[in-house]
Amino acid sequence: MAVSSSSSHETPLHIVFVPMLAPGHFIPMIDLAKLIATRGVKATVFITPVISARYGQSLRPESDSIPIRFIEIPFLSGEVGLPEGCETVDTLSFTLWSNFQSALSKWQTSVEHFIKEIEPFPTCMISDRYIPQIAVNAERLGLRRFIFDGMGCLSILIAYEIQTSKIHKTVEESEPFMLPGLPDIGLTRKQLPIHVRSNSPSMTEYREQMRAADSRACGILINSFDELEPDYITELRKLHQNRAWCVGPMSLHNKEKSEVARRGNKSSIDENECLKWLDNQESGSVIYSCLGSMSNIAPQQIAELGLALEASNRPFIWVLRKTETKADIEKWLSENKFVERTLGRGLVIWGWAPQVLILSHKAVGAFLMHCGWNSVMEGICSGIPMITWPNGGEQFFNEKLVSQILGIGVSVGPKSLLSVFPSEQTEVQIKSETILEAIEKVMSGDHQGLQRRKLVRELAEAAKKSSEKGGSSHRNIALFLQYIATNQNHA
Ligand code: UDP
Repeated sequence: MAVSSSSSHETPLHIVFVPMLAPGHFIPMIDLAKLIATRGVKATVFITPVISARYGQSLRPESDSIPIRFIEIPFLSGEVGLPEGCETVDTLSFTLWSNFQSALSKWQTSVEHFIKEIEPFPTCMISDRYIPQIAVNAERLGLRRFIFDGMGCLSILIAYEIQTSKIHKTVEESEPFMLPGLPDIGLTRKQLPIHVRSNSPSMTEYREQMRAADSRACGILINSFDELEPDYITELRKLHQNRAWCVGPMSLHNKEKSEVARRGNKSSIDENECLKWLDNQESGSVIYSCLGSMSNIAPQQIAELGLALEASNRPFIWVLRKTETKADIEKWLSENKFVERTLGRGLVIWGWAPQVLILSHKAVGAFLMHCGWNSVMEGICSGIPMITWPNGGEQFFNEKLVSQILGIGVSVGPKSLLSVFPSEQTEVQIKSETILEAIEKVMSGDHQGLQRRKLVRELAEAAKKSSEKGGSSHRNIALFLQYIATNQNHA
């Protein structure tokens, strides 16, 4: 089914997708593009050669019936002083952030040049909020632009409330403040994302660019579903004159096992080996611990997490990122004979884990996570309660939803964002006993533990229904496509 304009010049719909080059952003956007293409709408997704290589064959549509194409636009890492192949934020050392921004800016200009030549001209663009410069490229092309950044409704609202009220500027660093439009939500300045609280000229300029680009966007698509955050989506719809559509959860839209396993990157462990390991564990017994694609936690803090997993006496999968501190963490593991001590019940994965595949296995009983929004949605879709440990970005906002509003998680209790540089994380924020306490609460069979599990299972069911025919997200996609079809010429 191709949705087309109701005007006399029936033009088939064609949407171009421009993601931010970070896994937490391009993964859900690629899912969204695939989803829209299955509705018969032509989708063109701009990626880089490295992203293409990460996905491998899983980016190729199974059949020609899905009108999607992926365009590799070179990312000029070498020209701006980045290591060759550094094309995504998770491979970036943050000392080179401004170099990355330069290459990203050139990349967006190349995207603009490519779009200019497309025949027939696209109907609209869906782009990431975190690349606000793309608004200028889209406007030069006379192309309508919608935002999709993969975040949830509550996070978007909190960011909006902070930006408009500026309440965080009236309080001390650690002093809790409540948000005027969201009376249940209390935060401290130390928990706000760097781009929100920093006063550096570059961050102030970035913030201003984002605000301007947001205000000129035609609407917003959200990786959430109406039943998960009903009050918050109502507020967002008001803010966006009804042009806000919840179309998630994105992770549910990969149907083939190979697609699920290769979502975002090539796994560092053989999927079958991983599944076999899980098959040998009791149902609901395994703690899956993964703190996202970008967290950069100091070795001494990682060690506390390892000690807590060991002390839980339960089977666990522990995903560790290959960052500049890998050697120090390996040294700790080896000096403490960690692998030997947890032999048979601990599986350490260095690098990229097939997260959605793991979470959907019945052996997994808890998800120890950093509250990145994709991980939150993936945990919910799998019906697994969470042990929450926010440490960067808007993760403290997401934690409010998980632990406080929905009641499906227990926090390990961090008080502030961690520096992106492990060498600046001089103190251990969370001791192993505290992490263990949160694990025990979530794994417990007491009333609260069972209630948490029941709630998250109900949400998993609601998530599934929302994406099926007749469900809210299924309908919202149709409404969005109808909106762009009937307003084709209103740039
Ligand atoms: N992810 C994964 N394997 C890993 C690490 C991350 O599959 O080893 C995926 C995860 O499933 C999610 C995304 O990467 O879809 C991370 O996004 P999220 O918003 O959770 O956190 P971020 O990495 O952006 O902080």
